[in-house]
Amino acid sequence: MPLPPLVRRACRLVGCLALVAGLAAAGTAAAEPPVAGRPLPPWQPGQLDIHQINTGTGDAALFILPDGTTFLLDAGAVNRTGEREPNYDAPQRPDASLRPGETIVRYLRRFHPDGPEGALDYAMLTHFHGDHMGTLTADAPVSASGAYRLTGITDVGDAVRIRTLLDRDWPAYDYPAPSGGAMMLNYRAFLKWQIENRGLAVERFQPGRSDQIVLRRAADRYPNFEVRNIAANGQVWTGTGTAVRNRFPPGILPIENNCSLAFRLTYGAFTYFNGGDLSGQLSPRDPAWGEMESAVAWVTGPVDAHALNHHGTNDSANAFFLSVLQPRIHILSTYASSQPSPDVMRRMLSERIYPGPRDIFITNSGWPGRREIMVKLFGEPDTAWLLAQIEGAASRQGHVVLRVDPGGDHYRVVVLDDSRWEGNVVSVHGPYQSRGAKTAVTSR
Ligand SMILES: [Zn+2]
Repeated sequence: MPLPPLVRRACRLVGCLALVAGLAAAGTAAAEPPVAGRPLPPWQPGQLDIHQINTGTGDAALFILPDGTTFLLDAGAVNRTGEREPNYDAPQRPDASLRPGETIVRYLRRFHPDGPEGALDYAMLTHFHGDHMGTLTADAPVSASGAYRLTGITDVGDAVRIRTLLDRDWPAYDYPAPSGGAMMLNYRAFLKWQIENRGLAVERFQPGRSDQIVLRRAADRYPNFEVRNIAANGQVWTGTGTAVRNRFPPGILPIENNCSLAFRLTYGAFTYFNGGDLSGQLSPRDPAWGEMESAVAWVTGPVDAHALNHHGTNDSANAFFLSVLQPRIHILSTYASSQPSPDVMRRMLSERIYPGPRDIFITNSGWPGRREIMVKLFGEPDTAWLLAQIEGAASRQGHVVLRVDPGGDHYRVVVLDDSRWEGNVVSVHGPYQSRGAKTAVTSR
């Protein structure tokens, strides 16, 4: 429908995107916009929320899908005391009075669309590292059942009912090698008890499929929603049907990071990618199969937003990957002094790799003693340059919430204060027009 002349004139004055987004919002059940200094307005049916939760100890993301289906991706609670020098890793947020898993639970209870007692329809682990599932420390308490100890995902699943849990290696846990480590044995004891006592279903994440994470409540109302499984254990979707091909040669032992699962979420015109800790940038001596990002990029295609692979560590975000995905929004879920590296920041910012604007949102940036560690890692000039770029990021600290409007044509990025338990909105960015949306004029 052509715009009336007055609206066209107003478009020229105030910017068409903002105006049309406002009109679109007015045409739907008026969702309350987020405002700095106030609590985040509750999720509304039709919206898609992706919360990158910041505990300071690794990755955890809550997805509230358009029909209210809930999905937790990872529940990191890393503890590298003794492995890394003091101040290498970020301090816990908002503080260490709760375990990180308990902090995630508190966050879930605050934002779950069914209220504090709501269950998780899905939980999923990208791979088996402490910053994604919880390090098993000597002081981790035993659950009330006595069957397992509490850290990360077992902490969350002990407090919040999980209906279906997906990981990359259920049920054998023998790839790339049989795992008898204490952390995995504890995780498997947790699965066993939850299956037998709370009706948990566990599934192996299968690349190529688009029917493992689905809308559980009103799928017919949102036919333009899909989660496509892209990769796991080196098996990568080909882009045709559900067919996959193996990226790893037989007989090799891939690193855990490269076994990460990856998926693409689409909601109408909006697209999001997450690939756990996949590697993408190798030294010339490394074998080519160790580079997973390019293999997943060409079947993923352009996206609006992504969480940087491997927290933006130096082996992530290669030029080909970025040139294909062309993200408008980079979410850096960071917890260590090495994240992001100066070279990753250069690639993210480079308009020679892909043109156009892009905004960077970082969950953790500054903490006491970090700069000295950065200088040891990167040298003084690169540290100074990187800190200046971080200073210029759209946000440098806090939970990062992608809030996609009903239908998927527009979205905002909302940063929440992570220095207190019930933190308010710090800043609101957008609205952005989703990459796949038709032009503002014809979308009306
Ligand atoms: Zn990680």
